[in-house]
Amino acid sequence: MQKKISILGSTGSIGLSVLKILSKKKKYFKVNVLAADKNYKLICNQIKNLKPDIFLINNPLIYQKIKKKFKKNKVKIIKDIVSGNKKLNKSDITISAIPGIAGLTPTLQLIKKSKKVLIANKESIICGWNIIYKTAFKYNTKIIPVDSEHFSIMKLLENSNVNDVKKIYLTASGGPFLNYNLKKFKNIKPIQAIKHPKWKMGKKISIDSASMMNKLLESVEAQKLFSIPQKKIKLVIHPESLVHAAVEYKNGLIKFLYHKTNMIIPLVNAILEKKFDIDSFISIDNKKKDKLFFNKLSFFEVDKKRYPIIKLKNRIDEHYSTPIIINAVNEILVDQFLKKKIPFNSFYRYISKVLNDRNYKRFAVKKPKSVGEILQIDQWARYTTIKKIY
Ligand code: NDP
Repeated sequence: MQKKISILGSTGSIGLSVLKILSKKKKYFKVNVLAADKNYKLICNQIKNLKPDIFLINNPLIYQKIKKKFKKNKVKIIKDIVSGNKKLNKSDITISAIPGIAGLTPTLQLIKKSKKVLIANKESIICGWNIIYKTAFKYNTKIIPVDSEHFSIMKLLENSNVNDVKKIYLTASGGPFLNYNLKKFKNIKPIQAIKHPKWKMGKKISIDSASMMNKLLESVEAQKLFSIPQKKIKLVIHPESLVHAAVEYKNGLIKFLYHKTNMIIPLVNAILEKKFDIDSFISIDNKKKDKLFFNKLSFFEVDKKRYPIIKLKNRIDEHYSTPIIINAVNEILVDQFLKKKIPFNSFYRYISKVLNDRNYKRFAVKKPKSVGEILQIDQWARYTTIKKIY
C-alpha cells in the first residue's frame, strides 16, 4: 500500500531533499499535504507534478495568485493550517521543515494527523518541546529528529541507558569563517555568510552555522529531546563534518556516528526505517566511495573570540523560557543582517542586551503551556530586539 507523505517546507532545502528521495520510490508514496511560503514558481511546479491533496501557502499574495491559477484543479489550496485542519487527511509520514518558530503550529497540527513526524525544524523543539511531546503522546505519533546531529544521537543511544552517558559531543563544521581574519568580521556580507563550506542549506540555518548559533540551538534541542543536562553537552569544531555526534559512556567507551555530509542519509533512514542500499538514493562515484572512510578527522575546542555566541551556553538554563527568547532575538537578528541593517559581529551584543533588559526575567521565568503563551514570550523578545537596534 502507498504511504501518504506530507512535507512542511516542500520548496526548501530539506523539502527538496525529501522529494528527491521520493522520486526514487515513486510507487511507494503518495503526496498528501505540502506547505510553502512564497516560491511561486516551485509551488506551481509541485502542484502540477506532485498533485498533493492539499497545499498550504503562508504568503497571502502568493496564496491568492495560486488559488486563482488553480481554481479548476483538484488540489485544495489553504492559507491557514488551523482553520484548514478539518480538510487534512491522516499522513503516514510528515516532515517538518519550515524554519523558525513559524514551524511550530503547523508541526503540532500535523502531529495530530500523522503516524510519524520527522522534525528538522529545530526551533519548534527548542520553543515547544513540552507541547510537541504531549501532543505526540496523545495522538500516538512517533517523533524522529532529523537534524543530522540529533538523528545520530538517537541512533547512538539505541539500546543504551541515558543514565550511563557521561557526555554528548555535538560537532560543528565552523562554517565559512573558521579561518577568516577576525579583524574583517564586522564587514562580513550576507552573501559570504550564507555560503556554507559543507552543507547546502536555507539562508537562516546557514547564517546560524556561520555565527555558531546553530550549535547553541542544537545543544538546547539535544537537551530537550534526550533529557540530557546542558552541562553534559559539549560543542566541538570538526571541520570535516563526517562525525555528526559522539556519545561518551561512563564505562570509558566513546561511540560516534560517521556518514557522508549529505542530509539525504538521515532523512532516508528516518523515512524508511528498514534495510536499504544508500546507493539507490545518492550517487558517489566509485573512486570517492573507496576513499570515503580514509579521511583525516580533526576535533578542537570552539574559540569564544571567533564565536562569542557560544558564551550564551552558560545562560540557556538560567530560566525556563530563556531559549525561546534567544531563539526569537536571533530570528530578528538574522533577518536584519540579511537586510544589511546590522553587522555580522553584533549578534552576541544584541542578544546580551535583550537578556539584560529589565523586563527579561518577567518573560523568561514563564513556563508556557500553550502555543499562544510561547508566542507571547517570542513577541516580547522580537519587539525588544527591534527597540535595541533602532
Ligand atoms: P529553507 O529556507 O531552504 O526552506 C524553508 C521552507 O519553508 C521553504 O519551503 C519555505 O517556502 C517554507 N516556509 C518558510 N516559512 C514558511 C511559513 N511561514 N509557512 C509555510 N512554509 C514556510 O530551509 P531549510 O530547508 O534549510 O531548513 C528547514 C528547517 O530544517 C530549519 O528549521 C533548519 O534549521 C532545519 N534543518 C535544515 C538542514 C538543512 O540541511 N537544510 C539541516 C538540519 C536542520 P518558500 O520556499 O516558498 O519560501
